Amino acid sequence: MTGGATAAAPQRAVPGRIGILGGTFDPIHLGHLAAAEESREALGLEAVLFVPAGLPPHKPDRPISSAAHRLTMVELAIAGNPAFRASRAEIDRVGPSYAADTAAIIGDGIRAAGREPDLWWILSAEAFAGLASWRDPERLLAACRMAVVPRPGARPPVRASVEALFPGLGDRVVALDGPILDISSTLIRDRVAAGRSIRYLVPDAVAAYVEEHHLYTSDLWRTN
Ligand code: ATP
Ligand code: MG
Repeated sequence: MTGGATAAAPQRAVPGRIGILGGTFDPIHLGHLAAAEESREALGLEAVLFVPAGLPPHKPDRPISSAAHRLTMVELAIAGNPAFRASRAEIDRVGPSYAADTAAIIGDGIRAAGREPDLWWILSAEAFAGLASWRDPERLLAACRMAVVPRPGARPPVRASVEALFPGLGDRVVALDGPILDISSTLIRDRVAAGRSIRYLVPDAVAAYVEEHHLYTSDLWRTN
């Protein structure tokens, strides 16, 4: 990792270099899409896989839309980008999904197709700050390098602190520059529950889907 920003110049796509963006995606929003696009360009990713969580290990405290709704919204959101793909790797599994397992499954799939995986896990600085509490972070870092994108309120990691937490793995983490969008799925859900517009915060097709299926309208979804 360089002092903070890296890879200012766009990289040509490297065959087999794949980004993975895991999330609840309830719903997917422009912050997710911008993070994926920034990573794709800065790292020369051939593709970015969006992996909706099946049963998210970290979010039992609120209602969660069905996997079918969340996956469909991801598919609608990425439809115009040939480098973006939706992955069922987590929603097809029973029980909680851990990133280290997801990365191993995706890596095995690439190996089965006769190629050596070159994987990058994409996550925000806010999510990275909690990495030590994830299941098997060292195994995840062995399977994937990590691209950390900025997020409001979170400091990007520096090499020394990564190295202190995960000795010998400091080089596996790269902090990227990029647009900082103060958008979260929580914000989207709260706005819908309050009857407010989410236009320009999510792709139009996602806003239309949310409306059509009456997602997030009940007060159960509200956090404030
Ligand atoms: P929630 O508000 O329900 O927690 P979220 O907006 O954080 O939702 P997730 O599905 O939890 O969305 O996020 C998946 C990944 O995308 C995480 O690594 C998260 O940090 C990252 N991410 C989410 N929103 C942004 C954003 N605005 N900018 C950069 N990264 C983001
Ligand atoms: Mg979140």
